[in-house]
Amino acid sequence: MEKSYDYIIAGSGLAGLSLLYRILREDSLKGKKILVVDSEKKTKNDRTWCYWEKGEGLFEPIVHFSWDTLSYFAPKVNQTFKMDEYKYKMILGDQFYSFVLDFASQFSNVTFLQSEIKAIETEEGRAFLKSNEGVFEADFIFNSTPIFYPEINPENSLLQHFMGWKIRTHKKTFDPSEATLMDFTLKQTHGTTFMYVLPTSEMEALVEYTLFTEEVLEKEEYKRELTDYIENKLDISDYEIVHDEFGVIPMSLAKFNRSEDEEGRIINIGTAGGFTKASTGYTFYFVQKHLEKVVENLSVGKSPLVEKGFEDKMYDWYDRTLLDVLLKKKMEGRDIFTKLFTKVKPESVMAFLANESSSLEEFKIRHSLPPWTFASSGMKQLISR
Ligand SMILES: Cc1cc2nc3c(=O)[nH]c(=O)nc-3n(C[C@H](O)[C@H](O)[C@H](O)COP(=O)(O)OP(=O)(O)OC[C@H]3O[C@@H](n4cnc5c(N)ncnc54)[C@H](O)[C@@H]3O)c2cc1C
Repeated sequence: MEKSYDYIIAGSGLAGLSLLYRILREDSLKGKKILVVDSEKKTKNDRTWCYWEKGEGLFEPIVHFSWDTLSYFAPKVNQTFKMDEYKYKMILGDQFYSFVLDFASQFSNVTFLQSEIKAIETEEGRAFLKSNEGVFEADFIFNSTPIFYPEINPENSLLQHFMGWKIRTHKKTFDPSEATLMDFTLKQTHGTTFMYVLPTSEMEALVEYTLFTEEVLEKEEYKRELTDYIENKLDISDYEIVHDEFGVIPMSLAKFNRSEDEEGRIINIGTAGGFTKASTGYTFYFVQKHLEKVVENLSVGKSPLVEKGFEDKMYDWYDRTLLDVLLKKKMEGRDIFTKLFTKVKPESVMAFLANESSSLEEFKIRHSLPPWTFASSGMKQLISR
């Protein structure tokens, strides 16, 4: 097997395959020799991605379902809003993997290797990947495996953990034109706790029990809460679970490096590069925005290391401030989101959470929250980097 490549993509999950797809579609990068390494074969429907964007994105052909009307519920709050510009979209993991892998199968310059990655290093201007199948080298290695993750601990991170059930009912039950983004009418005993309800037909919906806390729960507890919600809140007794998923996403103040060496030969992408939004856990959209710039840079012969601009740093600061407030338990997550969704136009909140708000929207967001609760966290996070 060939040992030397232009690019090595280490990890072929969301970020790795998004990057591969983007490189293969870029004419000026035609024929670049690419090695894609992952310890797993990506075939399972192991996750459902939801995100929101304006207009059509690159992965529009595989958007499984989308909604322009969302609901936010909390005690005494019943807020349903139709978005003018954004659509909340859902992509199924297995469809994403097969879409990119089928596309890549037409290219003889792409090699796939199923192997455990042991280390990624640089030496004399080249990047090296050490795996069970030997050592491979490239101009650049794009890493989305956790090998360079910073330490995640209860001091610096919350875990977003969730169990989702796709349920099928036997009679028409749901209104697929509306999705529940957050239903906070649940006990907040463990910390920030809410449900998503994402109907994809009158008889099918993904119901997801989600928490932001220090530790994950026993599996039985997620199941109990999901059953209780479906039977007592949604009033559904006759249903079957056709798909289930479980996930843990770090919401962290720890520093995820964009690169691991001075020259920028090892580029971290995806969660490994810090593209999981610290205050919400959403990742899909931020990964796409980053990789679009990476490929743009590669296409004009520039370094693929995308430095943070002023806006990136500002949204990082907002995220870290909000996360610090949650970590230090200064205010409940439910109260923060309720203030945002009731005092500010909901679509502006969505724009803010997508790092795309205007200065006026940010002003309104800042003024919807109690200043003293956020001021000390904001100051601390301003001077901590
Ligand atoms: C169940 C679930 C649902 C989610 N839902 C959403 C959502 O709705 N919206 C959203 O924005 N985000 C969501 N996320 C968060 C985030 O989008 C995903 O975690 C996403 O997959 C992160 O992409 P990534 O490429 O960084 O990591 P991954 O997709 O996890 O890819 C990393 C790859 O590296 C491989 N790997 C790891 N270690 C090694 C090694 N040593 N050697 C070789 N290969 C290795 C893995 O097999 C994997 O394929 C979800 C996460 C989970 C787990």
